[in-house]
Amino acid sequence: MEDVSFESEISKTFSAQKSNAILLRESTSSQRIQQLEKLGDWIKSHQEDIRKAIHADFKKPYAEIDISEIFTVTSEIKYAIKNLKDWMKPKKVSAPIPLLGTSSYVQFEPKGNALIIAPWNYPFNLAIGPLVSALAAGCTAIIKPSEMTPHASALIRRMVGEIFEPELVAVFEGDVEVSQYLLTKPFDHIFFTGSPAVGKIIMKAAAENLSSVTLELGGKSPAIIDRDIDLQDATSKIIWGKFVNCGQTCIAPDYLLVHEDIIEAFVEALKAELHKMYDPKNKGIENSKDYARIVNEKHLNRINFLLADALTNGAHIAFGGRMIASGNFFEPTIITGVTDSMEVMQEEIFGPILPIVSYSDLDSAIKYVNSKPKPLALYAFSNNQEALDRVFSKTSSGGAVANDCVLHFLHHELPFGGINNSGIGKAHGHHGFLAFSNEKAVLKQRTGITSSKSLFPPYGFAAKKII
Ligand code: NAD
Repeated sequence: MEDVSFESEISKTFSAQKSNAILLRESTSSQRIQQLEKLGDWIKSHQEDIRKAIHADFKKPYAEIDISEIFTVTSEIKYAIKNLKDWMKPKKVSAPIPLLGTSSYVQFEPKGNALIIAPWNYPFNLAIGPLVSALAAGCTAIIKPSEMTPHASALIRRMVGEIFEPELVAVFEGDVEVSQYLLTKPFDHIFFTGSPAVGKIIMKAAAENLSSVTLELGGKSPAIIDRDIDLQDATSKIIWGKFVNCGQTCIAPDYLLVHEDIIEAFVEALKAELHKMYDPKNKGIENSKDYARIVNEKHLNRINFLLADALTNGAHIAFGGRMIASGNFFEPTIITGVTDSMEVMQEEIFGPILPIVSYSDLDSAIKYVNSKPKPLALYAFSNNQEALDRVFSKTSSGGAVANDCVLHFLHHELPFGGINNSGIGKAHGHHGFLAFSNEKAVLKQRTGITSSKSLFPPYGFAAKKII
């Protein structure tokens, strides 16, 4: 009987992609663009299937799917198609004096066969976005979508099966077991999006084969709210950035540091915005079609525990707090009176709880942020340019946004990623292309030219003169 275990299927596909990756070193921009166009066309003609699949997983509103899952990927494809020829062009560099007579350039060769491991929170975007960069760079890819969003995962497998030969792109669905088996293989590059805890496991496994890694991780992204702000403008942007996708966004503002002088007015304005966006007719947010659900019961219980722990230790609910277990509903929740020892301030919330901490002067807020692991995103709201500059120059984070939330994810020219605990390496646009490319140094010497010969022994005047 034929052995069809996932291990043997993975091994077979891995070998086929390894061989194909060698051929792809010579792939042209038009050949790569052709693959990207096929991907873009499929997405365009199957938008409804994509919407239905993701909605089935956690009731994500169609409008959010269109913007954060479909548009993000199709615009990434368009941008890569437009720029690929330029990105692939070897970059000429001039020769330093001791190497005069040589010509040199940086060649962007594909790293080879890549592994993409994706999380569940933006299940389509975070599996297919990196695929766009891999294809643009001329790599093959195996994708392992998250087991927590089975409908999206099945759709990704179907899509890839309908567009690509398995020696170019293949999908292996499954849980940790599949992921761990894939990680035993000597991939040329591993692009992982997920939690810092699993990121460490990925990096350890990659070290066994010295596979290069891009780690797109998470953590607690703060928003610092200065005294001098436009209240309605700031609170509306924060409510959207926090509660889009039911708070399950890696770059959602995890908690707010609010100047003590405005804290009461600020909380009232947040509540007003929540009503306006999710419950304008007072029917209960559970009836809003614009609010997603928690992905599963395990995460619902985790979030409920965070709230219970905070309340037991003295926090107060300013808004929300209700959970409806059937259907994994958790109300957008704002809590005040939060202290650092509470679990909600220790771990990434990744759900619809917004803790508010007050501060008395900007430097103490900056100090608090600097006492924590470097965040994936840092938000600052102020009308005062000097205050914004002070926050950005005194803190370290993967990305920083002034007077808005989340938008830097949509900017193709900005590198997207974290730093240390929030990630290693960058994604999107040209940065994504570079993540899957080896920047090969090529130096061409002409035969008969002797600049290097002056460095040969027996060492004389010329070698000494170089220094
Ligand atoms: P996760 O780390 O639990 O899982 C991510 C992927 O890794 C899944 O495909 C899963 O099957 C696999 N995996 C889980 N445990 C594994 C193990 N022990 N060995 C090998 N593979 C394993 O993350 P998640 O819960 O899916 O996503 C939430 C996390 O991802 C949050 O921390 C969030 O901030 C982060 N995130 C980061 C970004 C970013 O772009 N930086 C984007 C989205 C989510």
